[in-house]
Amino acid sequence: MEDDTIAAEKKRPSQAAIMRAERVSPKKDKGQNFLKDPATARKIVESAGIGPGDRVCEIGPGLGALTLDLARSARTLIAVEWDRDLAAILARRLESEGIRNARIIREDILLLDFGELARMAGGPLVVVGNLPYYLSSPILVKIVTERASVTRAVLMFQKELARRIAAPPGSRDYGRVSVLAQYAARLRTVARVNRDQFIPAPSVDSEVIELDFSAPPEFPARSESVFFDVVKAAFGKRRKMLKNSLAASELGLDARQVDAALDRAGIAPTRRAETLSLAEFAALSDAVMDEAKSDVI
Ligand code: SAM
Repeated sequence: MEDDTIAAEKKRPSQAAIMRAERVSPKKDKGQNFLKDPATARKIVESAGIGPGDRVCEIGPGLGALTLDLARSARTLIAVEWDRDLAAILARRLESEGIRNARIIREDILLLDFGELARMAGGPLVVVGNLPYYLSSPILVKIVTERASVTRAVLMFQKELARRIAAPPGSRDYGRVSVLAQYAARLRTVARVNRDQFIPAPSVDSEVIELDFSAPPEFPARSESVFFDVVKAAFGKRRKMLKNSLAASELGLDARQVDAALDRAGIAPTRRAETLSLAEFAALSDAVMDEAKSDVI
């Protein structure tokens, strides 16, 4: 049995062989860094822990490095690929492998709604992807915002962004993506992948991170949309003191209201966004809500 498995693995074409056969080359501006080695791809899928009950949404399947194993492990798979040529090649691969539980959607993931994708899949999703690096932050923000339809996400990021996601308050890397990811999810580093595992090789290594959304936030804000707006505003002018970045933002508060909200939350107006803990951001968000309400009255 084991010999069969090894033989099957050897027969699987490399991404380079598929690209040669299909006469395609990676589009750098679309973040097409393909996983080179089928064995590495398989390890990533294994470490994602996909089981027969999972409904998976893969973002950016490309030529299918992860897709075939994902589909074989999952109950259903929806793969969202922007590139028309790659989507067509992948459709043929799935067909020739006899995979029937996968569906490809040829679209920009940022234009889709995870709630709609989950309805299509018949239940909440596990989102998986080797993300196009130029869209990794907006994709992450979208998943966090729409996580009512997502139980967890297992995503590959370039190392710099992976570091920012996990950065603690007060550190140089702490920013909007750190606060959103840590507010909404428990984080776990699943794998580290060397840059030489990709064609073309990017200039940095990558990391696979799991975001588990199953538990509620440890420091919940009363309104999540206000919380997201406050975090965005606070980091909008990163180098500025909070009172200035919040007053100059789309929150619609004047300087007096910003001072009052910071006072309510017990946060000194001279602090900068990168020093605030999750609990402080939640308190600030609630204070901004109260301040906006008292203004209406
Ligand atoms: N999963 C493949 C692999 O590991 O070899 C490809 C990963 S590659 C880093 C990122 C993929 O995302 C590419 O196939 C690219 O065409 C696709 N992509 C880029 N922008 C996209 C978008 N806006 N929506 C969906 N897919 C996108």
